[in-house]
Amino acid sequence: KVIMHLQNIKKVYHIGGEDFAALNEVSLTIKEGDFIALMGPSGSGKSTLMNILGCLDRPTSGIYELDGEEVSHLSDDNLAMTRNRKIGFVFQNFNLLSRVSALHNVALPLVYAGVDKKEREARAIALLTSVGLGSWANHQPNELSGGQQQRVAIARALVNNPHIIMADEPTGNLDTKSSKEIMGIFETLHERHHTIILVTHEPEIAACADRQLLMCDGRITRDEGKGVSMDVV
Ligand code: ADP
Ligand code: ADP
Repeated sequence: KVIMHLQNIKKVYHIGGEDFAALNEVSLTIKEGDFIALMGPSGSGKSTLMNILGCLDRPTSGIYELDGEEVSHLSDDNLAMTRNRKIGFVFQNFNLLSRVSALHNVALPLVYAGVDKKEREARAIALLTSVGLGSWANHQPNELSGGQQQRVAIARALVNNPHIIMADEPTGNLDTKSSKEIMGIFETLHERHHTIILVTHEPEIAACADRQLLMCDGRITRDEGKGVSMDVV
């Protein structure tokens, strides 16, 4: 089943009176359960593509269907609603609230979803336990290692039960051991049929995915995986 479909996506920025295409006619089909690593040099358009796929930004032109729904023309509110229901985000710098516990960091998105306190805490504890942090629920981020903070961030990304997980350099600030633990969690999520898209510069991290996309100058120039290799342009 196709979960994300991009057709001829362009993203044009106006810089100093000139048009610049950060994404230039990108077409891409992502299937439910795909585990994708997005690679490419700095400035090649990875973040721009992630922002569009993640419903954080809209293309200048082209079609984006998420889970069968054309989303490029949704209102800001509807786009945010779709995003919060379907996609969990993980960042390089964890983006945790520093003054509250791991438990509250994980439970917070459920406040906005209108879930009552008891259920919020039960779900947060269950998720923290699933990432090996059951006994750290009451600790604040500054009492946790980088790898532990990223595990809290993954638990938070999962709290609304999204099918899609998007991660931008999730191991970029972690040592090798913590990186392996984090990739182990992504592999488990992959086995549970989540769709995972992560940006990385590291070949060993990209090798954990089952499909590798390479971007260059606003285009996807290579799409390979599962023994299939294809030069796109
Ligand atoms: P990457 O994530 O691969 O480093 P980006 O998607 O951040 O690449 O950027 C792609 C290109 O678009 C770069 O040349 C960048 O300078 C430009 N760009 C990104 N965001 C903006 C913006 N908000 N305004 C103008 N130019 C931008
Ligand atoms: P779980 O018990 O669910 O596996 P933990 O948070 O206890 O989750 O384990 C994560 C890691 O942190 C393990 O390597 C464990 O040895 C370590 N750890 C757990 N509790 C403490 C603690 N109170 N002080 C120091 N390290 C701990």
